[in-house]
Amino acid sequence: MATFTVDFLGCKVSQVDAQEIRERLVADGHAEGVGVVDAAVVNTCCVTHEAVRKSRQAVRRAARRAGRVYVTGCGANLAGDGFAGLPDNVEVVRLPSERTAAFVAGDVGAIGCVQANVSLDRVRAFVKIQDGCSFSCAFCVIPQVRGASRSRPASAVLTEIGRRVGQGHREVVLTGINLGCYRDRAAGFDLPRLVREAGAVPGLERLRLSSIEVNHVSDALCAAMRETPTVSPHLHVPLQSGDDRVLRAMGRRYTVATYLRRTAKASGFNLTTDAIVGFPAEDEAAFSNTLRAVEAARITKVHVFPYSPRPGTRTAAEDSIAPAVKKERSARLRALSEAACEAAWRRKVGSDDVVLVDRPGRGYGDDYTPWLVVAPVGALIRVRGVGVTDQGVLGAAA
Ligand code: SF4
Repeated sequence: MATFTVDFLGCKVSQVDAQEIRERLVADGHAEGVGVVDAAVVNTCCVTHEAVRKSRQAVRRAARRAGRVYVTGCGANLAGDGFAGLPDNVEVVRLPSERTAAFVAGDVGAIGCVQANVSLDRVRAFVKIQDGCSFSCAFCVIPQVRGASRSRPASAVLTEIGRRVGQGHREVVLTGINLGCYRDRAAGFDLPRLVREAGAVPGLERLRLSSIEVNHVSDALCAAMRETPTVSPHLHVPLQSGDDRVLRAMGRRYTVATYLRRTAKASGFNLTTDAIVGFPAEDEAAFSNTLRAVEAARITKVHVFPYSPRPGTRTAAEDSIAPAVKKERSARLRALSEAACEAAWRRKVGSDDVVLVDRPGRGYGDDYTPWLVVAPVGALIRVRGVGVTDQGVLGAAA
């Protein structure tokens, strides 16, 4: 038996991949440890320059306390030598996500082979339904490191959701890189059908989608979400820019008008987004258009990403906006997001919601609004909004 740690950086897909490696090692009879361990896995991120820097730091730290370190995930698959020059006990695993857990387990696995039951004490499970992306946004490194879009069979997804429910998870988040591309042609599933059937898995109390491209926000998807009682009325739809010229330069496949028209199909849902600030084509007028689009779409929360060029992308050599300008625009967009969040939270005061408590004192309501509540972790409780703080809606038992 070996002792191990698994850490991840980046998005929910990275978290799912890290979880798969962890489960595989536990199933092979190894034990999670703290501090000095035999093996450490760091599932890395490369979506920005900063993400690679942090991933490298995490690997360096792991190399000081682990006999062997496996660098996995997007950062490991990035072309170039982002992880060169690290200690000899570091191994960079350049494999697609589907083969990574088996490789790491195989390498560690000679030490022991005991079947164990993996139990997780989490309230929320992320279930990957799809990986990779066949789009080609000019700034994005993901298709390079994760490959083309491919989907898991619907039967495997539904079985995994049942297993997660059996482990005690109350909420499942369907996760992927480009979720709307989900297809299981042999079984006749697209994303709307998967949502309906996943939401009906016995015992599941809440189902959410992670992030979806606006072109996939269809009538069929919105109907599936509205008509399946367990599905959360929340959509995270990346905007990236609210200016058509910048969207074209980014290689995105929509205009601002399309974004507004499609997200209007989900009216009544809580809408959140990602935006890139300081893309080379973004002048002050274009940035103002982004502020306007965020308001027009009634977005409540914007994850702001200052642009950073990534190797191997079409804009790898372009970075014309000064860092101070990116910083200033990012601060303005974040301020708008904070104001929109607060306004949305104020509308909850006096109304009831069902909150899943996922950490001490905090949880998320049905539409992914953050609530501050007093209840045990794992509880799904009905609360009434009694006030607003800078962290979310203040809830009291209803
Ligand atoms: S849709 Fe665009 S931004 Fe999203 S993963 Fe694919 S290429 Fe990257």
